[in-house]
Amino acid sequence: MNVGDKQTSLERFFGKSREDERGVDDGKSATTEAETAKKKKVSLNRTYDKQYLKYGFFVTGDSHTPSPLCVICRVKMSNEAMKPLKLLHHLETKHPALKDKPLEFFEQKKGELQRQKQVLRATTSTNSAALRATHLVANRITKA
Ligand SMILES: [Zn+2]
Repeated sequence: MNVGDKQTSLERFFGKSREDERGVDDGKSATTEAETAKKKKVSLNRTYDKQYLKYGFFVTGDSHTPSPLCVICRVKMSNEAMKPLKLLHHLETKHPALKDKPLEFFEQKKGELQRQKQVLRATTSTNSAALRATHLVANRITKA
């Protein structure tokens, strides 16, 4: 009887944790939420620090192994490379001219990168939106 009880509680435990993971995946579309989730979830892997943006790096990848992404050349580095020294090295060797740029410069680059990502994501849902627009136009033509 005891064994049976343990099994059901284990099943419940695993079932619950799987649900939690799904919840995190769903939250990916909202950047700020995903970033907060990353900070909470990741303990063993190197986490992204907002300070890294001054080296020209933004974070990408899943919540368990975030990877630094150069906002200039869009090169994605490994999770192990998520250290200020490595990131600074990339900036100094690949983009020496941008080394002394203010944080605002990289903020702007990051914004461009995020907008492009959103456009990419939006293209999948554009078809239905385009269809709806065609219907609207068609309706207007019929009325006229
Ligand atoms: Zn770069």
